[in-house]
Amino acid sequence: MERLRRLQPKLFWGTPRRLWLNVFRPGYVRASLARRQGECRRCGACCRLAWRCHFFYHNKEMPACRLYRWYRSWNCSRFPLDRRDLADRDLIMPDQPCGYFWQDDD
Ligand code: SF4
Repeated sequence: MERLRRLQPKLFWGTPRRLWLNVFRPGYVRASLARRQGECRRCGACCRLAWRCHFFYHNKEMPACRLYRWYRSWNCSRFPLDRRDLADRDLIMPDQPCGYFWQDDD
């Protein structure tokens, strides 16, 4: 089932979209992240969107990253950038929400 969800084209566009926003729309990203609330719950869904990240693994049942200590790209460290990212992420793990959210009135 998860594999079928990943076939959605919007998930493939998410990575270049986030890269484009991070590089060319830093003001948008700053403003959106300033309004973002919550914290990461380490569910690992954002590491398995269109494809499973090569550096993703499970450490004692907990999702983990082989690179985390040394390097995190903007796409990883700033996820989710906005509600659109949350919607993409929810296609992968609809039963367990991301720890980040935006209030409805934002
Ligand atoms: S989807 Fe959200 S809660 Fe899950 S690992 Fe990514 S940022 Fe953290």
